[in-house]
Amino acid sequence: MAGIKWVLASDIDGTLVGHGGESALVNFLNERPEIGLVYLTGRTRANAEMLLDSYQFPHPLALATDIGADIFWGPSLRVDETWAFQQRREWSPRRIMRALEQVDGAFFQARCSYWRIAYGMRDLDALAHARAQLVRQGIPCRTLWDEEQRRMDVVPRNALKGKALKYILSRLSIRPQQCFVAGDGENDCDLLSGRYRGVVVANGVLPFKEHLPSQIIRSPLEGAQGVLDGLRHFLDEPRVLQAEFAG
Ligand SMILES: [Mg+2]
Repeated sequence: MAGIKWVLASDIDGTLVGHGGESALVNFLNERPEIGLVYLTGRTRANAEMLLDSYQFPHPLALATDIGADIFWGPSLRVDETWAFQQRREWSPRRIMRALEQVDGAFFQARCSYWRIAYGMRDLDALAHARAQLVRQGIPCRTLWDEEQRRMDVVPRNALKGKALKYILSRLSIRPQQCFVAGDGENDCDLLSGRYRGVVVANGVLPFKEHLPSQIIRSPLEGAQGVLDGLRHFLDEPRVLQAEFAG
């Protein structure tokens, strides 16, 4: 923790990995130990670790998995019990499954992790009914819809990357101005909402991509190259500002 000046808080799939340029970013980060890393992902811990290790990404200050439902502290990745307790308090998979059993056109697919239950949907009517059923029964949760796979995932209400990051930074006593965020997808929206400076990589598919807050750069480069591009701008900024001030 000592010596950390900046934090890169990034999504993994499609942002750090999957579009080339990973090793250039890894080298850059290894040369800059003053940049601490926070990874935020929809993956489970084991899954995320495997992927990050395969590209030799540096060990993080913290890893948030299942879209922020769990937080692990580096380097040994011990679970944050306080955070997990808060999530567990209102997470009731059994109630969710019982409620959705009654929905025509909703088919249980898998318990993907402790924090994620997947349902196949016959059509959009079934999706609407399923969502209404969860609301009607007052079950605290969030649903994510994958149009292509016709799949609805149910996750804890507070499983949000932005919430997890806010908690992580406050525990580390790092100010929002020291943090740079990176993402490419819908579940990165709350990270990129304007609280932090950051980058959306070129391959990003965001519902509000045209209306990003001004502190979010839209990199013309994909994946890790886009992150590196954005990060360089961010790190140059204090110098640019100082030069402008002096001039
Ligand atoms: Mg992604």
